Amino acid sequence: MVQISAIDKIRKFLKLESDRGFDNKAVLGGLNRVIPSWEAEARSQRIDINLIQEVVSRLNNYHLLDIQARQEIIRYLLDLFIEYQPESAETPPVLEQNDDRVPHRPANVDRIKKQTEVSSGPRQTDSFKGSHRPVNNQKQSTPGLDAPLTVISGIGPGFAQKLTNLELNTLGDLLYNFPRRYDDYSRLKPINRLEYGEEITVIGTVQSIQKRAIKGGTMQVVEAVLTDGTGFLRLSWFNQPWIIEQLKEKAHVVVSGKIDLYLGRLYMNSPEWEYLDKEQLHTNRIVPVYRLTAHITQRWLRRIMHQTVHFWAPRMPDFLSSKTKESASLVNLSNALEQIHFPESDKSLKDAQYRLAFDEIFLLQLGVLGQKRTWDSVTTQPISIPDDWQQQFESLMPFVLTNAQKQAIQDIQGDLKSEHPMNRLLQGDVGSGKTAVAAAAIAMVISQGSQAALMAPTSILAEQHYQNIKNLFAQANPFTSADSIRLLVGNTSENDRNEILTGLKEGNISLLIGTHALIEDPVIFKDLRLTIIDEQHRFGVAQRSALRNKGQNPHLLVMTATPIPRSLALTVYGDLELSLMDEMPAGRQPVETHVVSPVSRERAYELVRTQVKNGRQAFIIYPLIEKGEREETKAAVDEHKKIQNDIFPDLQIGLLHGRMKADDKDQVMEKFKDGSYQILVSTSVVEVGVDVPNATVMMIEGANRFGLAQLHQFRGRVGRGSEKSFCLLIPETENSLENERLSAMVETNDGFILAEKDLQQRGPGDFLGTRQSGYGELKMANLMDVRLIEKARLEARKVFDEDPDFSQPENSALKLMVDRFWSFGKGDIS
Ligand code: ADP
Ligand code: MG
Repeated sequence: MVQISAIDKIRKFLKLESDRGFDNKAVLGGLNRVIPSWEAEARSQRIDINLIQEVVSRLNNYHLLDIQARQEIIRYLLDLFIEYQPESAETPPVLEQNDDRVPHRPANVDRIKKQTEVSSGPRQTDSFKGSHRPVNNQKQSTPGLDAPLTVISGIGPGFAQKLTNLELNTLGDLLYNFPRRYDDYSRLKPINRLEYGEEITVIGTVQSIQKRAIKGGTMQVVEAVLTDGTGFLRLSWFNQPWIIEQLKEKAHVVVSGKIDLYLGRLYMNSPEWEYLDKEQLHTNRIVPVYRLTAHITQRWLRRIMHQTVHFWAPRMPDFLSSKTKESASLVNLSNALEQIHFPESDKSLKDAQYRLAFDEIFLLQLGVLGQKRTWDSVTTQPISIPDDWQQQFESLMPFVLTNAQKQAIQDIQGDLKSEHPMNRLLQGDVGSGKTAVAAAAIAMVISQGSQAALMAPTSILAEQHYQNIKNLFAQANPFTSADSIRLLVGNTSENDRNEILTGLKEGNISLLIGTHALIEDPVIFKDLRLTIIDEQHRFGVAQRSALRNKGQNPHLLVMTATPIPRSLALTVYGDLELSLMDEMPAGRQPVETHVVSPVSRERAYELVRTQVKNGRQAFIIYPLIEKGEREETKAAVDEHKKIQNDIFPDLQIGLLHGRMKADDKDQVMEKFKDGSYQILVSTSVVEVGVDVPNATVMMIEGANRFGLAQLHQFRGRVGRGSEKSFCLLIPETENSLENERLSAMVETNDGFILAEKDLQQRGPGDFLGTRQSGYGELKMANLMDVRLIEKARLEARKVFDEDPDFSQPENSALKLMVDRFWSFGKGDIS
């Protein structure tokens, strides 16, 4: 019997559904029909309960949703799965009879060489148009990183196919398939020395194993007793009946898990286990553990990896010069690749990680520098803007612009006047007023008769921008007429849509605001000169470049509220000019933030009540949509009922969550904005950008579940007017009151300080991820510290300044690596 990971299964359905255009026919009878059985299966595979809840709660009503809501949900879930890479359930060791072959017979080596020579020429990519075409690499003896997996002994077409599930397609993928973790078998313990509560690995023999039904036959449990001569350890697995087929009496196994106590006896619940692999155990004290997929076992993959690394790592030419390596104290590449997979010691593992992390930033930086050079070489027609323009604009605004806003507008004006397209990042904390700056940029362009487009990640946000900007321009409007501004989202009616498409083509629509609907094919602009992307981290590289491609080298402004530490900003956004808005509009008071114990929730409600009495409004955020069984987390739908009926029966309370139809969402937002609702109960859909200045309370339930950046975003929804505002963080349990992130939120309102904290606590992975893939994955990102990043950036600069085209012979291997690393981006990484 073969187990496919439940995640893989649902992912396939979602991909198919997405390919089909969200018609709910990927599964016979509709997606919601498979949910109950999927949930049971996922639970039996011990998949993270939170993830299961997310999937179930989001897909249950899938059939009731409109296309756009479906699309948003599926995109959301697929993203979620990317972050979550489960080790799939242990599968029968299918290849056991085959994998004892001698790792590298000479004949085999010849076969590899032949095949790789064929594919070792310059890789054809679009990544560097213009200045960065590959130079002459012919004499380069490259290791053929792009050779297919089938060149490796032991991998036939069948296994190669299965490995694609792990995104392993080439020899290079395999070498760079770093272990998910390591098991240090030097820290084994005999059973008689085990202690309650520890996470440990134990080696032993299965003395007995049996399966029985429990809970009136609704569940099955497999129970085994393991002995190592010093004592007995009980093992149990719930609802994984197949284990009885795989794990036999007398088998020698390694199990790891957490030691528990039941009726005075030690046991492990659902431990990970595998057959004892003597070779690995004795030749390697620290054993790599790789991600798996259906039909691929840990043992098999480890053997393949061992064989591949052993043969290929020493043959990898090092693309870093000895100068760079010396200057940054790096081990050489062969050594790093060997040690990252089969480390000889903790120290050699650390050195390998350092080197490979350095490589990622170094290549990233070289690509960014090359990209900037390419962009600097593109030209466009300058937009002429009258001198008194800014004054005129400012006089139309309902408020006095901050100096930071004025400066940003000036920066943009300078860019538009030049003959190179603008590539500018507008970075400003939540509430700093980026929309007004965007409006200014739009006004500059459309007052000259050209077109502009503004893309936002959700329909709520697009709608909000549409209203705000229309109102702004409606005032006295020297720029454009209100009906030349249009909104295009997923649920725009067919009629409006057609009208918009025609209007854009003919040029009588000057500004189009919308969601990713903007980049769908039939949308053609007559003369698109400015593209703006709000909350740019929500968009992928492909979407951003699709928007740019709607015009002829249009100017680009990307906006983000993600405060990113300086060293990282220079690395990740080094190709963009930066306008930093480090100033809040006058009269803002910092949001008073408290962590409130869940037992004192009444006090939080009291504050909400008082604020509402004074004419203000409140948000109450919950982590999930609906409460699942056995789930403690408070959920928006249930709590909305409770709050409406029991706590504030006299108030109007709106409910907003991601599973609602776009129309309904808009309606709820509208009613909250115009004050018909005093309280808005919501899930994290309000996280980004929503602007209701009259709201003064942000109450967050289950606050310990959210990340720092997300909490800061939530808090940014209040404190937008001149009234004093409050943020109340209520963790799920008393225990989480001391949560570090919550304390950090209380200490400061400054997004940059919080970002630095996040960087210290969680590493730079999240920040680097905000740029979104467009280059090779940053697999080592979370192991880096800021000093390493700085070092790699400087070394890259040195190399680039000396040889920007990598045309010197000693840089030809480097050239290949840069191309490889950037080949994912298809040349446009805005
Ligand atoms: P963000 O930078 O988070 O996108 P917004 O553009 O949504 O911020 O602006 C936040 C709020 O501040 C809005 O209500 C906006 O009208 C208001 N605002 C923007 N600039 C100013 C200013 N200079 N003075 C007063 N209020 C402003
Ligand atoms: Mg905004």
